[in-house]
Amino acid sequence: MATKKNIHVKDRNLLLAALPPEEYERLLPDLQSVSLDENHVLIEPFRRISYVYFPLSGAISLLMPAGQGHYIEAGMVGNEGLTGVCLSLGSDRAPMRAVAQTSSHGLKMSARVFRAEMQRNSPLADAVRRYAQAYMVMLSQGLVCMGAHRIEQRCARWLLMMHDRINTDELRLTHKTLARMLGVRRATVSEVASRLQSRDLVRYERGVMKIVDRAGLEKAACECYRVMTRELARMLAVRMVRHSRPQTEKAPPL
Ligand SMILES: [Zn+2]
Repeated sequence: MATKKNIHVKDRNLLLAALPPEEYERLLPDLQSVSLDENHVLIEPFRRISYVYFPLSGAISLLMPAGQGHYIEAGMVGNEGLTGVCLSLGSDRAPMRAVAQTSSHGLKMSARVFRAEMQRNSPLADAVRRYAQAYMVMLSQGLVCMGAHRIEQRCARWLLMMHDRINTDELRLTHKTLARMLGVRRATVSEVASRLQSRDLVRYERGVMKIVDRAGLEKAACECYRVMTRELARMLAVRMVRHSRPQTEKAPPL
């Protein structure tokens, strides 16, 4: 098992970082560095997935169709994981969209090479299987969250998950985007943001959501945040400790 590491290690993907150095070296020729703009679509529903993407920075939203062309976020991926997990489970497509929620930098590998790695049971396959367990917990716990928890708790959880995956305390975020992510009306998000702000947990000004009391936000979030992060930490052998961020960093667009 890998040594315990912080979850947010700048410019590293934790799955790849957990590989033995010689394995990582072996894979390097098949990993291509790419930068994604916000809203870049990595996966379209039921379309063949041509590559997997290991984020080094930024957050990717996993969106499920909700009818009439609308999508609701089912989970997110940052530098702890990869997109295209279904390729490790024997399917070359999925009913979801994967969209860059922020600008992102990462490494991509062709689906052909990735499948071959899974079939040969390489150390990468082992790491991906471990991540897949945490990934499935994230998706299923997300369903529990939507059905069982108050919107204020869910909103706090979402903000914490984003905070864990991006490199700043400030998110450029419209109420419309947050409403789409949480699957609620925009007016509801406005009310929730006001309540979180009145508790001095966040500050929302001119389209920027600033997390001002991370510990308070953790108390405000539902149990789902702890379930998801614990499972991720357990399977990847990382500590879910977030570094404090310099306040002067530019907010990524959301
Ligand atoms: Zn919840």
